Amino acid sequence: MRAPSGDLVVGDAKTAAEGDSAEGKGLKVRAMLRARLGEDIYVSWFKALEFDSFDGKTVKVSVPVVFLRKWIESHYMEELLKCCKAEFKTAQQVSVSVRQPGSNAARSVGREVEPLKTAREAVAEPRAIGISEAVRMPAIRPVAGRTSVDGFEGSPLDPHHTFDNFVVGPANRMAHAGAIQVAETVLTDNPAFNPLYLYSSVGLGKTHLLQAIAWEVKRRAENAQVLYLTAERFRYQFVEALRAQDPLSFKEKFRSINILLIDDLEFMQGEKTEQEFDHIINALLDGGRQVVVASARHPAQIERLNERMRSRLQRGLVAEIGGFDHELRQRVLDQRIAEKRAADPGFELSREVVDILASRLTESGRELEGAVNRLYLTWQHMRAPITPDIAESVVRDLFQGVEPRRIKIEDILRIISRHFGVSKGDLLSQRRHRSVVWPRQIGMYLAKQLTHRSLPEIGRRFGNRDHTTVLHAIRKIETVIAGDAGLRDEIDELKKLISH
Ligand code: ADP
Ligand code: MG
Repeated sequence: MRAPSGDLVVGDAKTAAEGDSAEGKGLKVRAMLRARLGEDIYVSWFKALEFDSFDGKTVKVSVPVVFLRKWIESHYMEELLKCCKAEFKTAQQVSVSVRQPGSNAARSVGREVEPLKTAREAVAEPRAIGISEAVRMPAIRPVAGRTSVDGFEGSPLDPHHTFDNFVVGPANRMAHAGAIQVAETVLTDNPAFNPLYLYSSVGLGKTHLLQAIAWEVKRRAENAQVLYLTAERFRYQFVEALRAQDPLSFKEKFRSINILLIDDLEFMQGEKTEQEFDHIINALLDGGRQVVVASARHPAQIERLNERMRSRLQRGLVAEIGGFDHELRQRVLDQRIAEKRAADPGFELSREVVDILASRLTESGRELEGAVNRLYLTWQHMRAPITPDIAESVVRDLFQGVEPRRIKIEDILRIISRHFGVSKGDLLSQRRHRSVVWPRQIGMYLAKQLTHRSLPEIGRRFGNRDHTTVLHAIRKIETVIAGDAGLRDEIDELKKLISH
C-alpha cells in the first residue's frame, strides 16, 4: 500500500486488530520525524520509508536502497526509535531493511553489499544531525589545477569546485552524500560504494562534485593516485596512444589508480574507445579501485553502453541531481556572492535582487553563477548599489523566456576549452598540434552556427586568424559530420552546453 505522494505508509503486514489505528500510528511517526528533523531532512531520508510490520517488539521498516538504510542506521536510529516508541508503545527496536527493487520511490539503485563497519563509523558523526552539518570539513586550499597519475595528466580542476563551496539541498542531497562518502572512504579498507554514478541535466553540479571528490582525496593524502578525466580527454589520450602504437602504455597508466573520475560519460564515443573504457572500468572495479562517473543520463539510457557495462555502472550508487528549488537557488547565489565578497568586501546584492535572480534563473547553477559574475562586474564598474532595475537589465539575456540568450564567442571558447581539456590560451595561440587544431576548428564551426558574427570577426576572436582559415575549418567539420554520427551527437551536446 502506497500513498500517492510516496510518503511513509503502514504496510499490509499489520494485524487486523491494529487496523486503522496502526496506519494512524505510522502517520504520527512520520509527522513526529518531520517536526523533529525538519522538512528538508525528512524529505531527503525518510520520504521513501515504509512500515512493514510490528510484532509487539520490533518495528520493521524498509527503504528502497542500501544507501538509505545505511544512512538512516548511522545517523537517525535513535531518533527513529524514539518516535516509534511514542506510538508503538511496546517497541524495543526498529529494524531497517531494503525492499526489492521496482519501487517507484527508488531514485537510485543499490545492491546489497556487506555493511560498512569501521569506515562507516569513521565517516559518520554519531549524533543525529543533518548531513550539511555532519560533513562540514575544514577549508580546502587547492594547490594544483590538475590531477595526474604516473605522468598521465587529467583534465583541469577548478579550485572553486570544492565541497566547501557546494550548497546542499533536497535536489542534490543524495548525490552530495554519496560524493562525500566516496571521498572519505576511498583510501580506507571499506570503500563506500563502487561505482558512484551521478546524473542530471546540465549545470546542476555534477562536475563540481566530481572535482570536489578529487580535491578532497588529494587533500587527505597527497600521494593518492587520483585521476579526473572528461570522457573526451580519455578518448583523445587513447587515440593518441593508438596512433603512437602504444596502447599498452595507456592501460598501464591506470594500474596504480586509487580513484578514477570520469566526467561527461555521454561523450565516450568510438568503438575502440568504448571497448578500452569497458576494459579499464572492469579491471578497476574487479581490482577494488574506486570509479566515479558523471553523465547527463541514467546508465540504462546510454544506448552506446553494452548491457554488461550498464548493469555494472548501476551496482553502486546511482544518484540523480534534480532541479533546484527556490531556496536552493537563493543559497547558491548567496554562496557565490560570499565568494566575491571575500575578495572584495564592498560588493553586495540586496535580498530583493537575490530574490529576483532566484525567481527567474531556474534552469541551472551555471546561470546563477553567470548572473553574479555579471553583476559583480557591473558593480566594479559603477561602485554603486545594484538596484533591481540594474539587476534586471544586466541579466536579462540570462532570463529564460524573455528573449533567447545571445551566445557569445566567449561562451564557446569556455565550453570548448573545458570539454577538450585545452586551455583558452592554446585555442587562441598559433599552435598547430592536432590536440588544439581540432577543438579550435570545432569552436569556429560552432561560432558560425550559433552567433551572428562574420567570418573575419570569428577569425579575429580565435587568435587573429584569417577568414579563409575559418572557412576551411567550417568546411572541414561539415565534411566530417556528414560521415560521422558520433561527431554529430557530440556537436549537438556541445551546442546544448553552450546554449545554457
Ligand atoms: P554539471 O557538471 O552538472 O553540468 P557544474 O558542476 O558544471 O554542472 O555546475 C555548474 C555551475 O553551477 C558551477 O559553477 C557550479 O559550481 C555551480 N553549482 C552547481 N550546483 C551547485 C551547488 N549545489 N552549490 C554551489 N554551486 C553549484
Ligand atoms: Mg559537467
